[in-house]
Amino acid sequence: MPTPVDEATDLLQTMIRNQCVNDGRPESGGEVRNAQTLGAYLAGPGVDIKQYQSHPGRGSMALRIEGSDKKAPSLLMMGHIDVVPADPNGWKRDPFCGDLIDGEIWGRGALDMLSITVTMAVAVKKLLREGWKPKGTLVFSGMADEEALGTWGAKYLVDNKWDDVKADAVLTESGEPPLPIPTKGGPKAIMVVGEKGSHWVGLKVNGTPGHGSIPYKTDNALVKAAEVVKRIANYQPKLHLDGAWREFVTAMQFEEPLASGLLSEAGFRDTLDGVPVGIARLFDASAHTTFSPNILHSGQKTNIVPDSAVIQIDIRTVPGDEGPQVRAMLREAIGDLWEQVEIMDEDSNPASASKTDAPIFKVMQSVTAKVMKGAQIVPSFTVGATDSRFFRRKGVPAYGYSVYSSNIPFGEFMTMFHGRNERIDQESLRLMLDLYEQTARAYLS
Ligand SMILES: [Zn+2]
Repeated sequence: MPTPVDEATDLLQTMIRNQCVNDGRPESGGEVRNAQTLGAYLAGPGVDIKQYQSHPGRGSMALRIEGSDKKAPSLLMMGHIDVVPADPNGWKRDPFCGDLIDGEIWGRGALDMLSITVTMAVAVKKLLREGWKPKGTLVFSGMADEEALGTWGAKYLVDNKWDDVKADAVLTESGEPPLPIPTKGGPKAIMVVGEKGSHWVGLKVNGTPGHGSIPYKTDNALVKAAEVVKRIANYQPKLHLDGAWREFVTAMQFEEPLASGLLSEAGFRDTLDGVPVGIARLFDASAHTTFSPNILHSGQKTNIVPDSAVIQIDIRTVPGDEGPQVRAMLREAIGDLWEQVEIMDEDSNPASASKTDAPIFKVMQSVTAKVMKGAQIVPSFTVGATDSRFFRRKGVPAYGYSVYSSNIPFGEFMTMFHGRNERIDQESLRLMLDLYEQTARAYLS
């Protein structure tokens, strides 16, 4: 008789090998393969499973266990079933091998986030097998296209099949493994209650064309753009040390002087110097809106002084920083060169957050403490974007909720998201199975 961990391992291997690689093109993804794998695994007499295709090949699925009490709260456990591309260069194994080596399953998606999706599915299967009859309705969904804005997955289902996926609370990716920084009190489990917004800006820098052989005092757009890039990179935006950041630092119970340094306007940036850089990067991004100039295009020919340059900036916003605030910060960063740039395009997705006093959050706290031996939940903001935002916009609280063993060190964990040698250990699968099964029972029974 295979154990739940065996089943999760097997399902994870199949889904990695299905290679539902989403490169952003509508014809990529092929999530119909993973949607059908999940459907086939969960199928049984009387089991209500729906398959969706928002676009040829872009499959999502939803399973429903109808509750007996219409007034009881309902829950959506949601995992995405697409993965980002993987270049085999630099990997120790084939990125789509799905091999089980020394208790770890290797392959693209093992962490982000097929491990969560499959452990949710195996927990649901266990409940189905025992004929569990909850008071509240449980929905489990495998979503396409999370890795490219969710157009063909969560956004499609929220816009077109709302009755199939609506719930009083949503659980999805992801929590974080324990931080390798000493804290007071018991163990901590970092869960995600909100995410930063994105505000992508294209800036055009103007100049005057001329001959490259006589550069003296020319109005060279590329040279100006280089200065603009440097100013944006060196810009220190206003810190937002209250609200979500303060809540995170306080709940972490860091030792002194780290705890007060991370909450001090004057000391914040010096304090980061004493933190391992991978973690400092996350802390820094959590405490303010960030600006990363990532693309610069200019020039047509080696002997022509360019009259324009275009800079693309990846800006990630904290709550409250939207269009007008972002433009004001850009103006401040660019200073006296502001007159010579124009904003060409802007693409904005505001930050979103869920309350930490929702009834589901109390259940998450008590179940996490059981599964992770007394661990307390630490609410955090993720710097990336997930499908949660579609539900938060509808007023539904959504959380990144998962647990990990300490077999994979934090530093390596962070580099594996969209990076090389992605894998998950079976002890983490066991913890997740426990977490999702117990949460469904506690919230819905
Ligand atoms: Zn993900």
